Amino acid sequence: EIAYYKDAFVDMDEKVVPIQERAHQFGDGIYEVIRVYNGKPFFMKEHLTRLQKSADAIELQLPYSMKEIESLCDEGLKRSGLADAEIYMQISRGIHPRQHFYPDPACSVFTMTVKQAKVIPEDLRKQGVKVMTTEDVRWKNCYIKSLNLLPNVMAKQKAKVNDCEEAIFHEDGIVKEGCSTNVFVIKDEKLYTYPALKGILHGITRQIILDLAADLEIEAVEEPFDVNFLYDADEAFISSTNMEIMPIRQVDDAKLPSNRPLTVKLIEQFQKLY
Ligand code: PMP
Repeated sequence: EIAYYKDAFVDMDEKVVPIQERAHQFGDGIYEVIRVYNGKPFFMKEHLTRLQKSADAIELQLPYSMKEIESLCDEGLKRSGLADAEIYMQISRGIHPRQHFYPDPACSVFTMTVKQAKVIPEDLRKQGVKVMTTEDVRWKNCYIKSLNLLPNVMAKQKAKVNDCEEAIFHEDGIVKEGCSTNVFVIKDEKLYTYPALKGILHGITRQIILDLAADLEIEAVEEPFDVNFLYDADEAFISSTNMEIMPIRQVDDAKLPSNRPLTVKLIEQFQKLY
């Protein structure tokens, strides 16, 4: 594994972040996570496009061009010596005496870590995971991949304490997304997921799944649905860069059917992409 801070590659545990770094004083920044399979970053362009979108949305100037970020990823991968890796990158608004308004001139800082990917055991994917629902207390701009993850962190901890893999946010009963995943339901052979509005992160995996569904001629419905619809699902799963497609076996007290024909098809097609 290897890390990068500001202008140089460093060891993962090297102490490099100054006290007045806005990422840790304000959570003032954005991030991306890219999965690498067999030395090849997966859907890199899409992740970098989303990074640029997040940057624009918080009026943050990226310190590097997309080309430069791509070469830093390549260089980081090479230095890490890893083939199956997780690249985490974050851009903060920089280092500056603490004040709320933006530093002028801009002084954004790029940070990256390249680590061994956590491989999801295939038997867990066969079994599926238990999830719980929890109220969405986040802000209105969850499409921005912001460093402010306190509600996500707290909900994930609540899930862990309750022996669940994920907590699913709902707003007045409407299912939005998980702490670090998007949520899908299959009902009567149609695929349902919350629309790509500002209230959820537009997952790269979510979009890949919608594209695969189109290829498989599974009708996709990007419309809000409620918690009861999730309890009554024929099949349901969560998705993310790290988890890929992970079936849900239980939501709160509702056990879902263990036969998941369409989810299995989507998983098969997904795993052919890398
Ligand atoms: N929603 C949230 C809140 C997330 O943090 C993530 C993980 N980045 C996702 C959804 C899934 O997005 P992706 O498929 O791009 O990893």
